[in-house]
Amino acid sequence: MTDATRRIAETLIREHALPKQDYARLIRERDDELAKLLAEHARRARERYYGSDVFTRGLIEISNFCKNDCLYCGIRRSNRDCVRYRLTEEEIAACAREGYALGFRTFVLQGGEDGYYTDERLCSIVARLKREHPDCAVTLSMGERERDSYQRLFDAGADRYLLRHETADRAHYGRLHPPEMSFDHRMACLKNLREIGYQVGCGFMVGSPFQTPETLAEDLRFIETFRPDMCGIGPFVPHHGTPFKDMPAGTAELTCFLLSVIRLIHPPVLLPATTALGTIHPRGRELGLLAGANVVMPNLSPVAVRKQYELYDNKLCTGEESAQCRDCLDARVRSVGCRLVTARGDIRFQEKQSL
Ligand code: SAM
Repeated sequence: MTDATRRIAETLIREHALPKQDYARLIRERDDELAKLLAEHARRARERYYGSDVFTRGLIEISNFCKNDCLYCGIRRSNRDCVRYRLTEEEIAACAREGYALGFRTFVLQGGEDGYYTDERLCSIVARLKREHPDCAVTLSMGERERDSYQRLFDAGADRYLLRHETADRAHYGRLHPPEMSFDHRMACLKNLREIGYQVGCGFMVGSPFQTPETLAEDLRFIETFRPDMCGIGPFVPHHGTPFKDMPAGTAELTCFLLSVIRLIHPPVLLPATTALGTIHPRGRELGLLAGANVVMPNLSPVAVRKQYELYDNKLCTGEESAQCRDCLDARVRSVGCRLVTARGDIRFQEKQSL
């Protein structure tokens, strides 16, 4: 760590904000000593809000049909080798029932942008989950929809929405997506979700093609101003059915570094240690927690379809039962001094000591 990077880190810890060029400099000049300093402060910041609690979300991957063609994604429409599936309302309700019995109090319904899930169908699914599990939160991660659709889903009971912004740099967005996809529309969706009253999650992949310290600095500035309730960042992992075959060296370390920076920018944020991080490093999720994450998202999808929801190669836990996933994560969380809790896990805006 140089004197200059130490000074920048101290400003971040004190002020929770930096100029863009300082974020880029921290990323470019980072070393183990700097990463350790930021991780220590990030853990302290997390503990002030959440103690040692780690929240768990049951991920139900409801469909891998997708009308989009994001260049990095294994379920993009032009991947002809992808065997498509979608779950019925009954199957989704069964996953949630199993999850509830295992202690999950948040269900995340995620899928490709699949026209089958009209507002009517999706509202019916959301309302049913809320009716059957009134003490649980329902999170949607179903991509870009129009404002009135988001409103209807909110009115049906959806509590949270995850929509990674993917990159806050317009030119970078253009290189990761086909021309018919719009940076402005994605950003407008996030704004609409916030205005409607959802707890909103944004996020991005680390190590995505054409990413630079400057594009990452733009992401961090966006997080500073948007102040999301959740922030999903995980490594980009190549999928053989896409044009992007390479993952930069050091992606796991950079992901952990950025988790610490994000925790320091916005201390109460709900920050997952992602399955993708566990995919590229055997202790990836533990390292994510040590860097300041406080959420894990094990899979509740039926085992028969898990392999088919393949956003990237070598995805973890595709052959395991949900209970096995939960037990495995429980042990991993305990190994780093935290505890997996049964709670909805909403964002806490007040520090624990002051409650
Ligand atoms: N369709 C919804 C949407 O667009 O938000 C949700 C599903 S989408 C597949 C969920 C997330 O997967 C994306 O936001 C993206 O960041 C991530 N993802 C896609 N391909 C990936 C890859 N190759 N490696 C890591 N993450 C990936």
